[in-house]
Amino acid sequence: MSRLYYDNAYLREFSAMVLEQTTHEGLPAVVLSDSAFYPTSGGQPNDLGTLNGVAVLDVVTAGDTEPVLHITGQPLGADSVQGVIDWGRRFDHMQHHTGQHILTRAFINAVEAPTVSFHLSENSVTIDLDRADVTPVEVDAAEDLANHIIAENRPVRAWFPSPDELAALQLRKISDKVTGAVRVIDIGGFDVTACGGTHVAHTGEVGLIKVIRLDSTKGKTRVEFRCGQRALEDYRAKNTLLHNLMAQLTTGVEQIPDVIEKMREENKALNRILRATQEELMGYQAERLWQAASNQASGEMVIVSWISESLTPRDLQQLANQLVAHPQTVALLGIYGDAGHLLLARSAELELDMVPLLKQGLSSLGSQKGGGRPNLAQGGGVPVTESQLQAVLTSIEGAIRGA
Ligand SMILES: [Zn+2]
Repeated sequence: MSRLYYDNAYLREFSAMVLEQTTHEGLPAVVLSDSAFYPTSGGQPNDLGTLNGVAVLDVVTAGDTEPVLHITGQPLGADSVQGVIDWGRRFDHMQHHTGQHILTRAFINAVEAPTVSFHLSENSVTIDLDRADVTPVEVDAAEDLANHIIAENRPVRAWFPSPDELAALQLRKISDKVTGAVRVIDIGGFDVTACGGTHVAHTGEVGLIKVIRLDSTKGKTRVEFRCGQRALEDYRAKNTLLHNLMAQLTTGVEQIPDVIEKMREENKALNRILRATQEELMGYQAERLWQAASNQASGEMVIVSWISESLTPRDLQQLANQLVAHPQTVALLGIYGDAGHLLLARSAELELDMVPLLKQGLSSLGSQKGGGRPNLAQGGGVPVTESQLQAVLTSIEGAIRGA
């Protein structure tokens, strides 16, 4: 079988004979006499397109010298086919594969960081460099060199050299997986390497190489980059994002970091004020609750029982501290909602132990998370309704009055 993309990566339509009609993982598949369809291999995804108007779903091969299987949406039932490649997808792969060769060489020449792997998919394109400490400044240097090579519009040559010629070439890499003749890609003298993929004819067609993200793990640096149309789309999306931020923050692009920093500072200051105000409010709330409970108290002991939905456990603790600063006072407080909370406290001179009362209350709410000391115990963490919580506090109050 002849792989037409080896000689001409720009071939979008071709005719061929059907050599074999078979199936692959339950789907119809054909082997052709010639094909411009690139099968998934060497880090480059397969082409898509049609054969006699029938969608090609996947293109696979077991190796460089093995047959290429074209998996179709339905059986072709023909002896010859007219094939059409999805050109947008193919050209994107050509731009990124060529771009990868250029960027990989640029990282070697500019900062001595060799590439150990390459990944190309619809969502991301990355190379892994054999160093974990690649800095943004080094990336800029490699990126500048790569884009310089693009601007020079160097010719890209792909061919199968004779064994003698191959021996004389200074190849960056020979893939272990190569089983047949070695195909060589020469990026205008800048980079010479073994590769079976599809590439553009001149470096200018890559358009632009932009690194968009660095990620260091396990002794490697993963470099995410975009070429050509994808780089433009990324630039467009980020420009739109910046303009939206400028409109929301009513500022210029250079001022955005300062404006955000100022907002964070303001937010911190507001939180401090809010906390102080909340504490003050808890003070008033405690006095109001204690007075009301004190007016209703029959004996010496004042029992304040109160629940809320909007407070935090921290607020509850403040409230309890204020309440039990009064003599002969018991505070039974709770928060209802998704993370229910129960807090029981008493004045120092009372002899009640709040811990068993808390445990009893929590267990009827279905929580085991809580504890404390005889004078103050709290816990919760489970969803609790207002009426459940009210019933628990009523029962605890009954137990204290009955004791
Ligand atoms: Zn390549």
